[in-house]
Amino acid sequence: MEVSYVRKITILFTITVFSLSLLGLKVDAQNVSNPQTFLQEQNTMSVLWFQRAGEAKALYYQGYNIGKMRLNEALSKLKGEKDLKPAVVLDIDETIVDNSPLFAGNIRTGNASPWDRWIDQAKAKPLPGAVDFLRYADSKGVDIYYISNRKESQKEATIRNLKQIGAPQADVDHVLLLQPGEIGKERRRQIVVATHHILLLFGDNLSDFNGFDELSASGRIQAVERRKDEFGKKLIVFPNPMYGDWEEAIYNYNVKKTDNEKDKLRKESLEKFHP
Ligand SMILES: [Mg+2]
Repeated sequence: MEVSYVRKITILFTITVFSLSLLGLKVDAQNVSNPQTFLQEQNTMSVLWFQRAGEAKALYYQGYNIGKMRLNEALSKLKGEKDLKPAVVLDIDETIVDNSPLFAGNIRTGNASPWDRWIDQAKAKPLPGAVDFLRYADSKGVDIYYISNRKESQKEATIRNLKQIGAPQADVDHVLLLQPGEIGKERRRQIVVATHHILLLFGDNLSDFNGFDELSASGRIQAVERRKDEFGKKLIVFPNPMYGDWEEAIYNYNVKKTDNEKDKLRKESLEKFHP
């Protein structure tokens, strides 16, 4: 009687262990057959930091506080200048509005969902300090240009979102989006330069400033070293660990890289300690 009971328990235990290992294999197999699952998964810490770290919020305040100081300095130097109007140029995504829910959703689904539906909803919230800064610049008679690589077809939704968060001057003349054939933002910056003194530029991507387009990952770092004095003066940078040209540079801007290749390049690019 007792032997049979022990045997039953043993069989049950064996079946449980076997089922659990099968489940484990299935999870592994999913990672192999659907690499996107783990590629998106790798963004967890970046999105978590962006959404939940007080430090992330503090860096936005820091950038916009410096912006206000620099704006005051630049405006006092411009006094008496009649020819050109003062302007500030800002990127939109991860500079003024927070798109992190889109990336958080991608971690959940395992797929990179297109921006269109997210942008269409025009529900992105403002980042810390952004709207205050924009209103301050507006109150000082500064023209605000929103230069973003969002598509022209997304212009109406983009303006709707900017208006909804209370961003001033958010209209068709001040929101300059990517035009067909354009790679970067330089042509649109030049349109503003023709009629304005650009006092400050704000962005989460080096290509929000001139001279940083299409550089290699190490070339970008070297360019930052060369121009180190410009940051916190004319150029204000915000943190975006979730995506950006910094990531594309790791893949040599090759849009055809597979997810497995991207994973490999990400890991190869790490500077490692070998104990
Ligand atoms: Mg951006």
